[in-house]
Amino acid sequence: MGKTSAPVKKNEYIDLTFSDLTHEGEGVGKLDGYPIFVPYGLPGESAKVKVIKVKKNLAFGKLIERYDTSEHRIEPPCDVFYKCGGCQIQHMTYERQLTMKQNQVQDVMKKIAQMPDVPVHPTIGMNEPWNYRNKVQIPVGERDGKVITGFYQKRTHNIIDMDTCPVQNDANDEVVRGIRDIIDELNIQPYNEETHEGVIRHIVLRTGQHTNEMMVVIVTKTKDLPKQKEFIEKIKALHPSIKGIIQNINADKTNVIMGDKSHSLWGNDVIIDRIHDLEFAISAHSFYQVNPEQTEKLYDQALKYAQLSGKETVIDAYCGIGTISLFLAQHAKQVYGVEVVPQAVDDAKANAKRNHIDNADFFVGEAEKVMPWWKAQGLNPDVIVVDPPRKGCDEKLLQAMIDMEPVRIVYVSCNPSTLARDLRILADSGYETQEIQPVDMFPQSSHVECCALLQKK
Ligand code: SAH
Repeated sequence: MGKTSAPVKKNEYIDLTFSDLTHEGEGVGKLDGYPIFVPYGLPGESAKVKVIKVKKNLAFGKLIERYDTSEHRIEPPCDVFYKCGGCQIQHMTYERQLTMKQNQVQDVMKKIAQMPDVPVHPTIGMNEPWNYRNKVQIPVGERDGKVITGFYQKRTHNIIDMDTCPVQNDANDEVVRGIRDIIDELNIQPYNEETHEGVIRHIVLRTGQHTNEMMVVIVTKTKDLPKQKEFIEKIKALHPSIKGIIQNINADKTNVIMGDKSHSLWGNDVIIDRIHDLEFAISAHSFYQVNPEQTEKLYDQALKYAQLSGKETVIDAYCGIGTISLFLAQHAKQVYGVEVVPQAVDDAKANAKRNHIDNADFFVGEAEKVMPWWKAQGLNPDVIVVDPPRKGCDEKLLQAMIDMEPVRIVYVSCNPSTLARDLRILADSGYETQEIQPVDMFPQSSHVECCALLQKK
């Protein structure tokens, strides 16, 4: 029997016991089977909750007072955790974070993929789940006449004035503060989203964890960068790791951080980093995994699932700067990588050379267009690896994979929901998911990375 109305009203105070977690890490309590989502509630805890928003099938609430404390609750180390939109689950022990992520993957495999029996292994975690991020993209703003940098407050575009971020690597943290103070000192105008005026929009930093090489990207609204010479000199002096300074111009009214055009202001336009025994050059527009320790574990898993003997032809779709491709190439006959960002493909080609790998070729284009073309050219890979962005694989790409009939597919994903959707489609065309390994790329956030092994039936 369907319910005709929700059992709660907006602004009502209720007592609620949490029995579950959402994929975002919010507590879920039920009244007569009707779920209420409450940020920071943990399973087993009871609390007084204010109902904030009521929908037909669910409501959202705010935690007002907790009556008890879960054994999985800890004091979040970050001062701005409850405001900042960056992290969602610092209030959970790391162990509980890892089981939450495993459960999340099991849940989508049940509900979306309709494959409840596929083994989802325990999430591979970090030894120290802090200071891991090698990349920061931080908005610059102004408050009370002072330049501020910080992440956006949850669900808003208000910048939280912050000095430090505990998931960032320390050098990035230090240089963000330094550049913020230089902008203030030189009186360069931060960009204002509302008026679409001002100069500096974002500071983007990327540091090679194994080499300590740092790239600074200053994203500006205007082409003109006032006091450019002084600005560069002062940034250079901030940290010995800084190897290059780049200006990126983004004149649009948009939430996208970087614009299409970049030019070097000083130094190198790539940084070098190492993953295991390979070296990679990375330019400003290229994707590069943000958690170096976990990247190695993820790639090890992908390579293990690929089960290469040295004789195989392998496709790496959505290959970025060719990271996974080059690890595959060390154990395969030939690897073909495809990637849509031209700068990343340039990096991939240079990276193959840099590592003296001559059995990996890289192509620019949309994977969903290049793969059918490859198929038409008679390319029949033994193994395909895919690592798409959050929206998952394009249907045309899934079809091209099916048409190519590889013995195995290794699917690397940063979004369990689209992974599960695609695994269902592939299963219906004869590719059985054998197992899934979640890897914690983003500790303290609710996101999880996965590596899935599919075998042709
Ligand atoms: N495997 C790489 C990159 C993964 S991120 C690594 O581990 O570093 C996903 C990549 O897919 C990004 O580099 C992005 O630019 C690229 N991409 C996005 N849409 C694409 C498409 N339609 N065709 C090919 N590549 C695409």
